[in-house]
Amino acid sequence: MDYKDLADLIFPNAKDISYYEEKYPERNLSEGAVVSRFAPSPTGFVHIGGLYQALVAREITKKTNGVFFLRVEDTDQKREVENGVIGIVNSLKDFDMAPDEGMVTETEEVGNYGPYKQSLRKDIYQAYAKYLLSQGKAYPCFCTPEEGEEIRKKQEAAKVRPGYYGVWAKCRNLTVEEAAEKIKNGEKCIIRFKSPGREDRKIKHHDIIKGNVDFPENDQDIVIIKADGLPTYHFAHAVDDHLMRTTHVIRSDEWLSSVPLHLQLFHELGFKAPKYAHIAPIMKNDNGNKRKLSKRKDPEAAVNYYKEEGVPPLAVKEYLLNIANSNFENWRRANQDKSIDEFDFQLNKMSVSGALFDMVKLLDIGKTVISKMSAEEVYDKSLEWAKEYDKELEDMLENKEYSLKVLGIERGNKKPRKDISKWAEVKNNIIYMYDDKFLNEDIEYDYAKISSNEEINKILKLYIEEYFDIDHDKETWFNKIKDLAEKTGYAREVKEFKKEPEKWPGHVGDISTVIRVALTGRQNTPDMYEIMQVLGKESVIKRLEKAMK
Ligand code: GLU
Repeated sequence: MDYKDLADLIFPNAKDISYYEEKYPERNLSEGAVVSRFAPSPTGFVHIGGLYQALVAREITKKTNGVFFLRVEDTDQKREVENGVIGIVNSLKDFDMAPDEGMVTETEEVGNYGPYKQSLRKDIYQAYAKYLLSQGKAYPCFCTPEEGEEIRKKQEAAKVRPGYYGVWAKCRNLTVEEAAEKIKNGEKCIIRFKSPGREDRKIKHHDIIKGNVDFPENDQDIVIIKADGLPTYHFAHAVDDHLMRTTHVIRSDEWLSSVPLHLQLFHELGFKAPKYAHIAPIMKNDNGNKRKLSKRKDPEAAVNYYKEEGVPPLAVKEYLLNIANSNFENWRRANQDKSIDEFDFQLNKMSVSGALFDMVKLLDIGKTVISKMSAEEVYDKSLEWAKEYDKELEDMLENKEYSLKVLGIERGNKKPRKDISKWAEVKNNIIYMYDDKFLNEDIEYDYAKISSNEEINKILKLYIEEYFDIDHDKETWFNKIKDLAEKTGYAREVKEFKKEPEKWPGHVGDISTVIRVALTGRQNTPDMYEIMQVLGKESVIKRLEKAMK
């Protein structure tokens, strides 16, 4: 009896690996093309850090005319959640990052290198495990969980490294006959890798992001096939990224310390190892302490948060590129109208340590992104969002013609309004423009400088009676406000006022503020001339009268 017989005994039906090697040939891509992937486990919502990795992988494949694929890593079936797969697929779609290959719905996939869902690849993993067994590079392990626990306790008592290695690797030294005997007796086994490594030797490795790193060799006989017949992450990584012809493994840096093991696996399997780029996690400043953005504590860690809040996907992507490559910001400033796909993204320019997540900055980018949209686009996107998350806004937007005018205020010009960072802000941003809301609401008017009711009423009354009109030219319109200022004893020009402030109680700006506040209930609004144009004469008068009551 030899290794091959033992391999046949354990996996009698597994195919020879040559079958898969032929089925999944080298990809026919141009020189330098990067093949990379997003490989999440469907264990919960997609984390912003996951999206970040996916974006980075996708950017680099797009830049090089490569392939970006989505692989679902569902080998830990205990941790799987309902709708996990569709959640991942939809999140990528929401961000306009659908993969070139891989899962495209809960059950369907595209591409020639599938299945792209690990639980459907059991036969493939077993074929490669059988191959290792037949070479004596893997072995069946019959240790029970209790025995494992016993080993761990002994190691703790002896103050040595935990794990299944060297003298502790009990089943490593079973003869082929002994192992075969146990299997024939119906004893259950898992398959372990027989590590050729030694802990006292070092390996040197170059990571695209982390640079040169030294590690002790791996000497752990890790599990490659579990009791349920599915592979562990490590084994699946080697087999899948080989067969899917991944050139660059871009993943979270929690896996960096597994690189020695992974390189060993690739080597023993006879595969060419991919390049690795380990991404530092996105951090959060928590009362002065830097910690990872956490699924449990931080709502903004979930990509769904951005959908629910209506942050434009492009803003999230721009922000993530910003933390990925610090030169993005300058590039964006110099190339305001270019698509982010034109940015020359570089993997090796990513920072070694984790960037601090900055919501203020993200929302600021949101403002810029939305400011570049047409009124029509803002309308469509707000409505789409409102339909799912805000009935009141949906109702307001029902009057499309009017809403387009409202959203069109200070938009489409050189310096467009920059006051909306996400769709969840639209309602508050425009609600005062809707008469059925504004006129029926209790408004707390705060007129800033001028506070006497009598004075306010005098100004408003005079404005309505003698100066107000919907003039179709801004200068004429504003001159009337200047006239009103003069008439009520205020300075006509701010400049004059500044020269001799003691001469007047205030200036035309203060008068404008009174009108603005009466008109909208707010001190800060977009251009008042445009607001009046949109509201129309009747509405303006009703509003000013409401304020005088
Ligand atoms: N399923 C692994 C994870 O979510 C994938 C890591 C990788 O990209 O290889 O961490």
